[in-house]
Amino acid sequence: MKRRQFVGTSIFAGMPFIMRAEEGYLKPGETGYDQARQLFNSDLSPKPAYIAACRSEEEVRKAITFARNENLSVSVKSGGHCFIGSSMSDGSLSIDLGGMSQRVYLPESKELIAGPGVKLGKLYDVLLPQGRILPAGSCAGVGLGGLALGGGYGLFARQWGLTSDHMQRVKMVNGKGELMDSKDDPELLWACRGGGNGNFGVVTSMEFQTRAVRSTFGAQRFVVRGFSAKKAVAMMRDWFELAAGLPEPIFSGFVFNGRQITVLMTTSFTTGGPAFRKAAAAMKRIGFGSKGGINSPTAKALARYYGQAGPLPFYNVSGGFYHGFKDVEHASGEVADKVMGTGGLIFQVNTLGGAITRGPDSAYPHREYPFMGEIQAYWQRKSQREALIANVTALRKAIGAKAHYRNYPDATLENPLEAYYGSSLLQLRALKVRYDPDNLIRHPQSLTS
Ligand SMILES: Cc1cc2nc3c(=O)[nH]c(=O)nc-3n(C[C@H](O)[C@H](O)[C@H](O)COP(=O)(O)OP(=O)(O)OC[C@H]3O[C@@H](n4cnc5c(N)ncnc54)[C@H](O)[C@@H]3O)c2cc1C
Repeated sequence: MKRRQFVGTSIFAGMPFIMRAEEGYLKPGETGYDQARQLFNSDLSPKPAYIAACRSEEEVRKAITFARNENLSVSVKSGGHCFIGSSMSDGSLSIDLGGMSQRVYLPESKELIAGPGVKLGKLYDVLLPQGRILPAGSCAGVGLGGLALGGGYGLFARQWGLTSDHMQRVKMVNGKGELMDSKDDPELLWACRGGGNGNFGVVTSMEFQTRAVRSTFGAQRFVVRGFSAKKAVAMMRDWFELAAGLPEPIFSGFVFNGRQITVLMTTSFTTGGPAFRKAAAAMKRIGFGSKGGINSPTAKALARYYGQAGPLPFYNVSGGFYHGFKDVEHASGEVADKVMGTGGLIFQVNTLGGAITRGPDSAYPHREYPFMGEIQAYWQRKSQREALIANVTALRKAIGAKAHYRNYPDATLENPLEAYYGSSLLQLRALKVRYDPDNLIRHPQSLTS
């Protein structure tokens, strides 16, 4: 058996480490294994049988052949930000694509060719100086692979659509070890626009259309404190009503954290524009305070939302998709009581809709919803963990939404595939049979045929 040394890239950008393993794959107990299995969610402790850091289609193909010969399942990791660690299933061969982080912008066609392992921050570093952007998420450390294959939304999604709506071509090594190109199989592109996470194979390359972005970006934060639970519910209702009428270049997020509600409103125009000023005035009328809007160069403005780079322990789940306040009204009192009574528990709702509703035919099934909720828990002390997790699950159940975002997975959902893929599930299952008939590519919530 061949032994070799190679350099892998950890989820901490710029922190190289040396791996040494048989076949180039790391096993438990070997130097580098513990570092390589570290995910963004440090509450998780995955135990894959092997970790294969692959840097080319050929290396991916070899890793899949190895897994078939060893009778192992394959899980796939790009940026390692999955809430529940589905990129590193226990006992699997986990293919780590962190080293496949190429990003090439083609000025003539204004297209981007990217590897799945590229982090969003690094992508924006290439595109923003060209005056271009790929509408995607806000956090710099999230991997493009996992984000784009499940949908991908962010501050520009209402204006231009999801990340996956901008995907034009993908290449994938399927569960049979064959290299596929969506140019020859358009259904592969359909599936990868929202249904591609760890289901059919290993996506090794993606091509995207990009958008011209303005040189300035506007944002304003609105804050309210010192309210009763009843008042919090009223403010939630008012925000839903206001947010439903926002024009498409404006994004808004409602963040209910302890005894404070923060609403973020951003615009790809400026906060001085008439629509933004009207919305800001309405926010003040419903009781929020603000120090005023900020208009900054776009790259600087987006960097404010890049978030924490290193791992941290948390327990986040989708709160579900909503048409409006009526979909959470029945649970809103419980949301207010639990959030106000539990430090570290957050209920957040973000605006969707706009261009997302007009996106291309794709596996992403939730286009009709203008809102999406997320329930989050962060702890400083381990002793807070159990109660926080119980409250997250209780709130998710109290809200009782049936449709959930694949990229905000919840290991406790009863019917996760129906919740994530809805009306696309039948077609996705048929493709699973074609692309991965032996169910080699799998994790606890992956597609079954
Ligand atoms: C801090 C933080 C901020 C976030 N912000 C946003 C946001 O603004 N917008 C948003 O839409 N989402 C956001 N998310 C959710 C994010 O989209 C998902 O966690 C996403 O799946 C992460 O992708 P990844 O490549 O980093 O993760 P991974 O854990 O590497 O992968 C996630 C899933 O995709 C599969 N996968 C990854 N790469 C491939 C591939 N090449 N081929 C096949 N399957 C693959 C994995 O098997 C796994 O099931 C955020 C998550 C976190 C933790």
